[in-house]
Amino acid sequence: MTRRSPPRGAWPDSASRPLLTPIQPSVVYATGAPDDLDAIYEGRAQGFTYAREGHPNAVALARRIDAMEGAQDGLVVGSGMAAVTAALLGALKAGDHVLGGDQLYGRTLRLFSETLPGLGIATSTADATDAAAMAAAIRPETRMILIEVVSNPTIRVADVAGIARLARDRGLLLAIDNTFTTPRAFRPFDHGADIVIHSVTKLLAGHSDATLGYVAARDADLRARIATLAVTTGLTASPFDCWLAERGLFTFDLRYDRAEANAAALADTLARLPGVRRVLYPTRADHPDHNRAAALLGGHGSHMVSFEIAGGRAEANALVRAAEGIAFAPTLGDVATTLSHPASSSHRGLTPERRADLGMGEGFFRVSAGCEPTDALCEAFARAVEGSGAAAV
Ligand SMILES: *Cc1c(COP(=O)(O)O)cnc(C)c1O
Repeated sequence: MTRRSPPRGAWPDSASRPLLTPIQPSVVYATGAPDDLDAIYEGRAQGFTYAREGHPNAVALARRIDAMEGAQDGLVVGSGMAAVTAALLGALKAGDHVLGGDQLYGRTLRLFSETLPGLGIATSTADATDAAAMAAAIRPETRMILIEVVSNPTIRVADVAGIARLARDRGLLLAIDNTFTTPRAFRPFDHGADIVIHSVTKLLAGHSDATLGYVAARDADLRARIATLAVTTGLTASPFDCWLAERGLFTFDLRYDRAEANAAALADTLARLPGVRRVLYPTRADHPDHNRAAALLGGHGSHMVSFEIAGGRAEANALVRAAEGIAFAPTLGDVATTLSHPASSSHRGLTPERRADLGMGEGFFRVSAGCEPTDALCEAFARAVEGSGAAAV
């Protein structure tokens, strides 16, 4: 007698149940008969068919983010850019125009300048802190406005109330990329958004070990168009990444609150240091959008703080070298603090003059605060600024 091995997909019986969401990497799902497939495809039965079309780990993660955003049937996709792409291509067609904030995430701006025009979708950008400037940029073919609430890396706060009013009055879709603010500080659907987008890669997953995105739409037809676009173009997320992100979400509130408190303390510390020219943090009285931030973010600031030191590239190099224990890395939302230098990374494609116009010279840095002990973090930055030599410039 040979011993038969169990069928693939068999799982030991258990009178107990696991505390955690299982990982389901299966690419394909078997059903009993063609009628069973009909039932799944026609929505009469809940089920999966093929992982690109959906899998349990993406759905489990999406339902958690839905609850945080007050959304219904959001979709988890393979990256934040996949979410931006699904939202734009799901909602727009050739001949349409989309208006973006002029300080959107760098790759989103690239989608605007290169990809969308090639598909016949016209794009332009305007200052999202000024609803009148956005209104002036609307065209007869405009179908959508896409903004971020807190801009990267200059930490300006969009006039969300004014832009939402504008979108409603002109019958335009309003899409908000809520990556920086997160549902802890801001819920776009409560402020008139039609579409919410996240790079889950950042604070939501929070550990720099999963690349994922999320997109949700208020309208069911639009949701279906976005989902079809994502499935057809293969923007699908990996089950393992979804599982990691779901685990990360269990500590999201704790991580957010600590990171935000660290960013606020760091902003105040930096503002007192000789050699620091300016600090940008939304809850500080010296922030240009202080009142708007207070009204929109309910007392929250952000985990992001930007600052500028005196001097040029030499001082910037010296600051990074003196920033002991702080990773110099162009990301955000990690459990540990990261420091980035837009002039040599995200905004290196701009001319020095254009960067200066935007207030991002060689001395300009962006910090994504992590969850370290606050005092140690502030001391590390105080030593870094001292080591930069900016005070002597
Ligand atoms: C990082 C980021 C994205 C893109 O997300 P990925 O997961 O890196 O593709 C989009 N929007 C904002 C605001 C981001 O910070």
